[in-house]
Amino acid sequence: MSEWRGIWVFVEQDDGELERASLEILTRAGELGGKFNEEVYGVLLGHELSGIAEEASRYGADKLIIVDHPELRHFNSDAYTEVLSYLINKYRPRYMLLPATRNSRDIAGRLAVRFRTCLSAHVISVDIDEKDRRLVTAVPGFGGNIVATVVCTGGKPEMATVSPGTYEARAGSKRAVLISETVPEELIKKRRIELVGKERTQMIDLSRAERVVVAGLGTGGDLELINEFAKLINASVGVTRPLADMGLVPRDYQVGTTGVSLRAKLAFVFGASGAPHFVYGIRDCGTVVAVNTDREAPIFEHCDYCIVADLFEILRALIKELRGG
Ligand SMILES: Cc1cc2nc3c(=O)[nH]c(=O)nc-3n(C[C@H](O)[C@H](O)[C@H](O)COP(=O)(O)OP(=O)(O)OC[C@H]3O[C@@H](n4cnc5c(N)ncnc54)[C@H](O)[C@@H]3O)c2cc1C
Repeated sequence: MSEWRGIWVFVEQDDGELERASLEILTRAGELGGKFNEEVYGVLLGHELSGIAEEASRYGADKLIIVDHPELRHFNSDAYTEVLSYLINKYRPRYMLLPATRNSRDIAGRLAVRFRTCLSAHVISVDIDEKDRRLVTAVPGFGGNIVATVVCTGGKPEMATVSPGTYEARAGSKRAVLISETVPEELIKKRRIELVGKERTQMIDLSRAERVVVAGLGTGGDLELINEFAKLINASVGVTRPLADMGLVPRDYQVGTTGVSLRAKLAFVFGASGAPHFVYGIRDCGTVVAVNTDREAPIFEHCDYCIVADLFEILRALIKELRGG
């Protein structure tokens, strides 16, 4: 049996759209691969992939394994798990990184159980130990009050799902070599999914937005003025976890360790207390303005401008001003 070598990154796509978090992880894997002399592989499953394969090949991988099959066009947990298991058995990668998105988290757990290996979930940094070359990740715990270092101590591949926005996706001049793989049909067709319809919602990639207005629980879930203000300053809207839990907006708009990390130049935070799990998501913002009625709120330690006031009053005043008084 060959040695377990190389860093794998699952390159998530759906119906020809690449998940940007995969490109962020590819960039990080490229850095680690160069430092530790490990080959970096992207793994892309789907159908009619030439365009996105070309795009994905520019983010630091040495090789990009492609499995192209009509049944893989859309995410299918069973088929994707089978195909990835087949490829892992064939290539034996030492490390496997996936974006901490809904779909990739689903298959990551299944793969970890199949291979009886370790999986760090929703990590906020990925490294390799200089001495014994184990995967070392950072995972926030206990409400974000500690960040635990998690070291994989058994099983291969050593796996982690990485929070979107943790790393910057950087395309370079290097192109990955494309490897087209075929896998046994019965693996792909084990359970078939028929897509009967698709509803497209206008989703915004919050991690790339230049201006963001974040609503916390202090809004009581009333986002009318938040939306109006955001529109006036051409900003995207994000929320803290309680609002996402309430189902007011899709989970993709949640900011924080289990949501999106912002890189906005300007962020307004209305009615959020500043829990560690949330402030992790605004750590890379340029200017942060926070509004809270509680002058002791921890959010004020993580912003550039502190406004102790009722958020609705401030929003009304800002909207009035922006509309010309
Ligand atoms: C494993 C784990 C992962 C988590 N991941 C995330 C995550 O990714 N993102 C996230 O956000 N949370 C996350 N959380 C939850 C997090 O710990 C907090 O519970 C959450 O961030 C609190 O949201 P909040 O600030 O909106 O609500 P609260 O903590 O209830 O704060 C509301 C704030 O609004 C203020 N307020 C009330 N009324 C007004 C008003 N009229 N005007 C102005 N201010 C007002 C209050 O003073 C208060 O400070 C996670 C928790 C765990 C355990």
